[in-house]
Amino acid sequence: MHRAASLAEEVYEAIFARLMALKIPPGARITVDNLVRELAVSQTPIREALGRLEGEGLVVKTHLVGYSAAPQITRRRFEELYELRLLLEPKMAGRAAASMTDAALAELTAAAGVMSRSGGADERARYSQFARQDALFHDQILEVAGNELVRETLAHQHTHFHIFRLMFHARVTEEALDEHEAILAAFAARNVDAARQAMRAHIERSRDRLLPAFDS
Ligand SMILES: [Zn+2]
Repeated sequence: MHRAASLAEEVYEAIFARLMALKIPPGARITVDNLVRELAVSQTPIREALGRLEGEGLVVKTHLVGYSAAPQITRRRFEELYELRLLLEPKMAGRAAASMTDAALAELTAAAGVMSRSGGADERARYSQFARQDALFHDQILEVAGNELVRETLAHQHTHFHIFRLMFHARVTEEALDEHEAILAAFAARNVDAARQAMRAHIERSRDRLLPAFDS
């Protein structure tokens, strides 16, 4: 039972990493048989993983055609996402600073710390992990801020998965770490204005780092 659960998880992570690092490019067909060969597992955990990825918006299932990687977000959608984030997240970061507890701060610091600078390991796995951790970090801030509707709204966009898929580049992760530290410092000081500013700066820089993806 436990073995089956961890196998399903491993298969999911393997496919997730391929999608995030564009080894399976946006829009590409995903063949279950190919994955069976590549990952040396049966169809069951692969179908399970693809169903989960479909729920996360990373995989699309078409009747009679099968699975494919979700298409890349358009530049317009990208700009809309960042506008939404800029409208909501700085304000929520300020609110989180105002109601920050020591326990919540410790959790956020731990979540930020997991995103290690040079994990060594597989760069592709590290990148996909960072995307997930970044999503978690931002979600935890929204949890502390306490507006569940804002939290749900942003969670439904699966923003981080889509934006990290725009570009597979170490710079995307390295620079974000410093920006997260600035946000944490503002939380530690319970400084509402500094938290709002640090979050705004982080989102604006994130947007600027990823914009070149649309040039090619
Ligand atoms: Zn971030």
